[in-house]
Amino acid sequence: MHTYHRDGTLDDARRAAVVAIGDELIGGAVVDANSSAIAEALFGLGIEVERIVAGGDRREPLARLLYELCSTWPIVVATGGLGPTRDDVTRAAAAEAAGVPLLADPEVEERLRRFWRTRGREMPPANLRQTLFPAGAQRMPNSRGTADGFRVWIEGGMLACLPGPPHEMRPMLEGELIPWLERTCGRGEVVLARELHLIGITESGFAERAGNWMARDANPRMGVCAGEGILTVSLRARAGSQEAAGAMLEERSAELAARLGPDLYGVGESQADLARVVGDALRERGLTVATAESCTGGMVAARLVGVPGISEVFLEGWVTYGNRAKVERLGVDPAALAAHGAVSAEVAAQMAAGAAERSGARVAVSTTGIAGPDGGSPEKPVGLVCFGLCRDGELSTLERRFSAGGREYVRRCATNTALDLLRRNLPTGD
Ligand code: ATP
Ligand code: MG
Repeated sequence: MHTYHRDGTLDDARRAAVVAIGDELIGGAVVDANSSAIAEALFGLGIEVERIVAGGDRREPLARLLYELCSTWPIVVATGGLGPTRDDVTRAAAAEAAGVPLLADPEVEERLRRFWRTRGREMPPANLRQTLFPAGAQRMPNSRGTADGFRVWIEGGMLACLPGPPHEMRPMLEGELIPWLERTCGRGEVVLARELHLIGITESGFAERAGNWMARDANPRMGVCAGEGILTVSLRARAGSQEAAGAMLEERSAELAARLGPDLYGVGESQADLARVVGDALRERGLTVATAESCTGGMVAARLVGVPGISEVFLEGWVTYGNRAKVERLGVDPAALAAHGAVSAEVAAQMAAGAAERSGARVAVSTTGIAGPDGGSPEKPVGLVCFGLCRDGELSTLERRFSAGGREYVRRCATNTALDLLRRNLPTGD
């Protein structure tokens, strides 16, 4: 049981729910960006958001939803529906859920009239709605617009109502609600987070290696999210002090690095981008690089070019989509094309060799594959991509099958794999 006492103290108040209000959100016209921003800000205080919901602009169902949320969570943060139009019903719904009347605040009315006067207009009567607050609510001023927010107590839960427009919501969240929460319920335990970036390992493969580090109650808590061949592992450590939480993160990261070996390509936000990690490594070692691409159509080159300072090492990239281009631009043997097909380890190797030779780069990587949706066969299904690598004249190849996800997805996965092939095979020393 939690209790949020009216004097501001509370028990077990480090759990929260967030509700985004608006027909445009449940109708799919607007993507709810506010809830995740709110969850992140609360997380910084050690308050965990356990539920995010969206509700429409109807007073009675909304009042019920707010009541239910406040009966379960000590902290409920709502966003949206504070505007002056009839479809903005959050004030009325909050009052109904709290079982109190809406009262006009003369101070707010005065502020609104001034607001309109300084703009050379009389206040439209509809804006009077924005002077209404549930009785007993604490107002949170809006520095960017006309809709003030408020806090109100419902069934032992504290409901905070913020405006919907993100540029109004954020300043109220950061300037009013978060400081108030920090004053009333403290920072609690320090929570520190860190992300680790992996490639070449599946989600289930990772879970196996991570074992009970992934348990729900582990500290640091570990979460995984996968996409385009990359796994992002997030660690969240809770402790009594900044130092202790930092040390826990450090220790678990080191243990993970030891278990994962080269599948771990980066730690932290600065190393999230695989191309950046590869590009920086190439630059540090002064290794020149070239690309020869078919199915990725220049995406590998584009990712490398996105790395600041890459001009020191990136020499040249080819997009050789047709067979003739592979032969004429890169010197691929027509006999290899005829015997093995364009999507084959042989052709991938020859593409990489040609790119290295013609550019003079020390390393070259190539891609050739079937991105789909058509063009697959039982032997060479859609999603099959062959990669070639030429390192100081030494050739190697890799074959990968990227499963469903569509043409674009296959190409993105292939781009990441090509970058990873470079990363894992950088010549050491010179
Ligand atoms: P007003 O109606 O005066 O603009 P309000 O507080 O009533 O203020 P809403 O009507 O709910 O705000 O939302 C106004 C606009 O803000 C929406 O049309 C939408 O573009 C944006 N918005 C609202 N809620 C969200 C949200 N959760 N995430 C992202 N954008 C939002
Ligand atoms: Mg609205």
